[in-house]
Amino acid sequence: MTKPEQYAVFGHPIKHSKSPLIHQQFAVQTRQNIEYTRQDVDAEQFVSATRNFFAGGGHGLNCTVPLKELAWKFADDLTQRASYSKAVNTLARQADGRILGDNTDGIGLVTDLLSNHQIKLDNINILLLGAGGASRGILQPILQQQPKRLVIVNRTVEKAVNLATEFTELGNLIGCGYNDLEHQSFDLILNATSASLSGQLPPLPEKLLANKGICYDLAYGNEPTAFVRWGQQQGAAKSLDGLGMLVEQAAEAFYLWRGIRPETQVMIEQFNTNRNQSN
Ligand code: NDP
Repeated sequence: MTKPEQYAVFGHPIKHSKSPLIHQQFAVQTRQNIEYTRQDVDAEQFVSATRNFFAGGGHGLNCTVPLKELAWKFADDLTQRASYSKAVNTLARQADGRILGDNTDGIGLVTDLLSNHQIKLDNINILLLGAGGASRGILQPILQQQPKRLVIVNRTVEKAVNLATEFTELGNLIGCGYNDLEHQSFDLILNATSASLSGQLPPLPEKLLANKGICYDLAYGNEPTAFVRWGQQQGAAKSLDGLGMLVEQAAEAFYLWRGIRPETQVMIEQFNTNRNQSN
């Protein structure tokens, strides 16, 4: 048997990453001869580790916290969505040896919403919580779905306003602070803050969620996140976390690397079963 082609995920910390498991399962399912490993790489080590990986014959890399902006700078070429997001989670060695940078987070989220949960994004009011890397990464694919209006809200208001200004040509969007949300309501609230990672909730006013509205936390865990629980308390039609997004962004990266699209539903169901059993 020929030697498997090499893929990896770099990040710091990295030991809890589900990416090796996801990609190995995609490979078995699609009969691709690859090996996917994880490597603890911090910001200082990033450039040399990435050069070594590709010089050693590596085919593709995923980059996670805190490396996405560095990966964006490292890439020789960028997809349009990576160019907008100024962050890269997927690097691919092309036939001519140049390194292509892509950002599959946003399309992963959109696929999870549209295909896995039948949540349409066109002509609805969307509130996006947070103005960090994840928000930046998902804005272009979300705006491509033509929502009626998108509001970005952030604790540091200036970052929300600047982000909205940067993407203004792509849709109807504004940036503001949490105090400006009184008396507004939204069909879909996306939580792209890192508050959930420490069990916290952004300061959300009552009646923020429209009747039959939907909540989606980009973060995920074995237990429902604080924001998923908030959505349930507000009577959301669905209150979801980012596990589906994680699997879908990986599927998109796999497609970029191997030209074959893996089946994702089975894996999402399997992850859901496992976490229900561990609760
Ligand atoms: P960043 O550190 O770049 O940004 C964090 C954002 O959260 C900032 O806007 C920050 O506001 C805000 N924030 C942090 N704590 C609070 C709080 N207590 N109240 C209100 N706002 C808060 O993080 P990322 O954008 O990279 O990641 C955000 C989330 O998205 C994480 O939970 C991450 O796990 C998730 N994610 C999930 C993915 C998936 O596949 N499911 C993929 C990518 C990300 P301020 O600017 O004021 O500091």
